[in-house]
Amino acid sequence: MPRYEYRCRTCDDTFEVSRPMAESSAPADCPAGHADTVKLLSAVAVGGSSGGSAAPAPAMGGGGGGCCGGGACG
Ligand SMILES: [Zn+2]
Repeated sequence: MPRYEYRCRTCDDTFEVSRPMAESSAPADCPAGHADTVKLLSAVAVGGSSGGSAAPAPAMGGGGGGCCGGGACG
């Protein structure tokens, strides 16, 4: 179950709540019982802060004939 971080605007404290994603946008009460909380956009704790992403470069272009492309050139 994902964990979400909230901040109470009443006591200015941050707390985490484990809840299903379907309820991620639902308001969460702070441990002290305050309802004036805001959801923080905290990164999911997956570990590994550094390290480049090795995403493959997208192939540019495609089709390579240079003719009219739909196979209707005659
Ligand atoms: Zn509070």
